[in-house]
Amino acid sequence: METSSEHAQHDPVNTTNGAEQQVIVKNITENNDSTNTSTGITNPTSAISTPSISVDNSNNTSNITTDSTTTSTTTNDPSNNNTATTTTTTISTVNDNVASSSNVSASNVSNAENNAEKVVFEGKVITKQNRLIALTLRNESLMWNEKGFVSIILLSTVIGVTTMDKFFTVHVIARNKKNVRTKETASFKCQSVEQAKAWADAIHNVLNQGGKGPHGCRVVFVVNPFSGTKKALSMLASVRHLFDIAGMHITVIETDRAGHAREIGRDINLATVDRLVCVSGDGLFNELINGLLEREDWENAIKLPLGIIPAGSGNGIAASLGTPNAVSAALAIIKGHMRPVDILRTTQNGKSLYGFLSLTWAMISDVDIESDKLRWMGPARFSVGALKRIISLRKYKGKITFLPAPNLPEPHPECVSFANCARCKDDHVPIPAQVREDGKRVLPNYLYDVTQPPPAEWRVIDDEFVVFIATNVAWISTDFLASLHAHLSDGAVDLVLVRAKPELTRAKMVSLLLQTDDGKYINSPLVEHYKVKALYLEPGHHSNISEHKSTEGCIIAVDGERVPYTPVGLEVFRGLINMLSIE
Ligand code: ADP
Ligand code: MG
Repeated sequence: METSSEHAQHDPVNTTNGAEQQVIVKNITENNDSTNTSTGITNPTSAISTPSISVDNSNNTSNITTDSTTTSTTTNDPSNNNTATTTTTTISTVNDNVASSSNVSASNVSNAENNAEKVVFEGKVITKQNRLIALTLRNESLMWNEKGFVSIILLSTVIGVTTMDKFFTVHVIARNKKNVRTKETASFKCQSVEQAKAWADAIHNVLNQGGKGPHGCRVVFVVNPFSGTKKALSMLASVRHLFDIAGMHITVIETDRAGHAREIGRDINLATVDRLVCVSGDGLFNELINGLLEREDWENAIKLPLGIIPAGSGNGIAASLGTPNAVSAALAIIKGHMRPVDILRTTQNGKSLYGFLSLTWAMISDVDIESDKLRWMGPARFSVGALKRIISLRKYKGKITFLPAPNLPEPHPECVSFANCARCKDDHVPIPAQVREDGKRVLPNYLYDVTQPPPAEWRVIDDEFVVFIATNVAWISTDFLASLHAHLSDGAVDLVLVRAKPELTRAKMVSLLLQTDDGKYINSPLVEHYKVKALYLEPGHHSNISEHKSTEGCIIAVDGERVPYTPVGLEVFRGLINMLSIE
């Protein structure tokens, strides 16, 4: 499914706090607050307007508010001869007798210095408005003061700098007024070619501090040309120039058959790649992970930063990482910020398969797999499939045995940002491999021998079910917030169940369905939710065919791909892989 807009809650906000006497520079944020930034924007792009300052005078709230005045000019970007929009947001205080905008600047500088944000480079340059300004580069920002107004570009949004003659152009991926990330540019003219180069070098040096930046980084893209509505290749083409600006070396491998990505994961020479990225749906990424984990050197392989540009039907992992479209995914790939993500291991008949998204059964897997023939519809196929399944509602017999995860669940809107999610960040310890008798290093085993009764701490639910989702991520597809409580690296899956109770009418099912896009359905008394470290599912037949006691046509899926309809064990390994995400 192609996603044209970002869910606001998908994308974390970059926040710096600081305070100084009367004027408090409360937030230097990315644009997540329309009140800060939209005033007078003729073109709602915001390379520079996106990082906005909101001013809060706690001592005298009536006197200071934020007034965001924006000048927007369409200019010729001298570095690439493309027409680009340079937008400058300037921040001023409404009441000048309390604090002028230069107070804001002074406060911010002081704040920056307090945070050891020292000046790296500074000098006079000319803006597109033909104004001579003093430009200051710090570790985290590029800042200037124009006619008394402060403008800031956060370096966390800068992907690269290009030069042409006396100009240097800063390329930014930032949120626009509609909260969608887009590429913007800001160009400055210097007094000499050398000076323009010096500025570009200085900014590049900060971007590539410690050699961790994108410059020279080797990225391998694994592209499934048949993902979703077959737009993976054009999607990659649409953002390819961003990787060029960042100075990355790109290799593209197109998959030519099912199973190809698994082979790539298994065979790729780790010494030749710095970032490995799928341009696909969740299914191809599942193959790649399985390939990496079945290698002899899997412990090294999983250190590789992994990314995804969402081009598939569901795109659950991209939505859950806060990179729901190609541009936001490109920013994550370029900036190289990594966050750990839990891995699931499912075992059926002694065979293991790894996953990162979900184990689904009953209505959810039915809809996912049965609606595959409606691919041409795009994301609507899931809703159509769900309505069909509600009309001919199936009740599945089954036994679920699970090991509850130690902590109580709590909602966590910040989980898209590893830095902001205390639950994922705290006491995060990588899983130690166990050494088998034959000397092979393997992942530990959390399951028990099913021929024995379950250990005391395991719970058993033996009943009839309509919905079964064991999800590792919040969003199992772009439109389905499966669990508001899910964390990407808490070492647990969220088990969501709907039992076939008499009060579960079709109308109530439709009502639950309508609350899946904001995840609120999980609060219904008809829905049960558990945090789970490991589980067994013993699936039975469903009501429509119960008289035959057959399970023909019944479906279990791992990461949205069909697996055999037999008992399945699931274990969670905390933060086993590292995924490229927005900081
Ligand atoms: P979607 O989200 O649309 O299902 P995926 O990228 O997840 O898209 O792909 C689904 C499956 O397509 C993968 O699991 C893989 O086995 C298969 N696949 C990959 N490359 C090809 C190809 N060239 N032709 C056919 N199938 C492929
Ligand atoms: Mg988890």
